[in-house]
This record gives sequence, C-alpha cells and structure tokens, in this order.
Amino acid sequence: MKTPLRLVPVPMFNDNYLWLLIAANGNTIAVDVGDYDVLAHYLQAHDLTLTTVLITHHHRDHIAGLVDLKKNHPNVPIYGSASISGITHALDGGNIINIPHFGRFLVLDISGHTKIHLAFYHFADKVLFCSDCLFSAGCGRIFDGDALSFYHSIQKISLLADDTILCPAHEYTLSNLQFSLAVEPNNQDSKDYQQQCLLLRQQHRPTLPTLLGKEKRLNPFLRCHLLVKEISALTQQSCQTSAQGFAALRRYKNDWQSSNLL
Ligand SMILES: [Zn+2]
Repeated sequence: MKTPLRLVPVPMFNDNYLWLLIAANGNTIAVDVGDYDVLAHYLQAHDLTLTTVLITHHHRDHIAGLVDLKKNHPNVPIYGSASISGITHALDGGNIINIPHFGRFLVLDISGHTKIHLAFYHFADKVLFCSDCLFSAGCGRIFDGDALSFYHSIQKISLLADDTILCPAHEYTLSNLQFSLAVEPNNQDSKDYQQQCLLLRQQHRPTLPTLLGKEKRLNPFLRCHLLVKEISALTQQSCQTSAQGFAALRRYKNDWQSSNLL
C-alpha cells in the first residue's frame, strides 16, 4: 500500500471476508455487507466511522446486511448496480468514483459469476475488490452469468499490473490449490504456495489478499491460454481456444468439487 490506507479482511459466515479500507482518520469503506452485525461490531471495536459502502453483486452473502445497515447509517452512500435493492448511487462498468479521504476508484464490469458483477479498483494503491469473480488459485462458479463473459472479465483483470492487490470475497485458497495442482501437477509455484497457505490457515490467518502476478503463475483460470492442450486432455473436451478451455475447465471443476470436498 502506497498511501496510509489500511486494508482489512474481516471473517464473516464460514468462509467470506468483509473487506474494509480504512483511512488514517478512521473513515471506512466496506465492500459488500453480508452480515451487518459483523461490520457494526468491527467498527465499534476499532472506533471507526463507516462513510461508504461498495456492493459487487446481488448474492445474499454480499447484500443481506444492507437493510440493517440503512437503518443504522441512513446517510452512508451505497454504490453498486441499480439492479440491487438499497443502492443509493447507481454505477456501471467504466465509471470512476472519487471518495473523500480515499481517492479514485475505477468500476469494472466483471460479469460471469453473475449477470451483473462489479469490481472496484483503487488507483493509488492498486487494490482490486474482485469479490466472487477471481479467487486465489481459482474463480467463482457460474450462476446467472455465462462462461464467455466470465472469460472476458478475467482477461480484463489480467490487464492490470502484476503488483495489483486482489481482494476476493472467499477463503477458498486451499481447496482451489488442490484443483490447480490436479490441472498442473508440476507447477512449483502452486506447490510452494500450498505450503505457505497451509501454515497460514493452521494459524487461522487469511491467505488473502493475493497478488495478480502470483495468480498469473498458478491460477489455472488465468492460464487457460497456456493450458489449452492440458485442459482438453483433462476434461476430455476438444478445446481450440483459451475461451473454450476456460469454459471446459469451469464446468469440469463443478463436478470435481462435488467429489473432492475438503
Ligand atoms: Zn456470489
């Protein structure tokens, strides 16, 4: 982080993170509010003032806390897609917002997990709140989105600088790494990262945030252009392009997960 801002993942539910960006004066941005009580408790315990909420997509574990949030903070602006109930400031991909004490954010349309999914990129610190699009060593499932949009969204993220700090919304890294190593058994970066993450999780510490450059070395969903042949063999699909490889790999992981749950 180049600015005095602090980035904090607050655990929520079983494996979600509520991401907070905190300014030196205690002003705080919350990204997605699945559980208002978790947010309220953290703000009170650390003497912070909620000044802005950013919402990425419509799933319950990202917005269920908005009703209570609005009751308790009626004047806090809530940025997100106009399709989500409770949003006070509607956004689309390509918009830029300027938040006092924090600076400028670029809004990215990263649909695919859902039909509408926004990400927020903080220019000064190169932080991307990518929620359920890109996870460490994996990516989100496809719900009401589609594979081709998802592929393009991940391509869009990959155009950011390698030192971009990625903030996914779930602690799925260890189970994702099992899958990554099934796709690329000899990927030394994945093997080394798995050891680091095992230690972190033993200490109940988050494996996140992660870095885009690292993800490019080990996340198979960012590496489809390098793995078309391997993905074709693994999924027994004849993939010709990296977009087809992405779609086949995403489908394959749906079934793989169900038989390999940790
Ligand atoms: Zn979701």
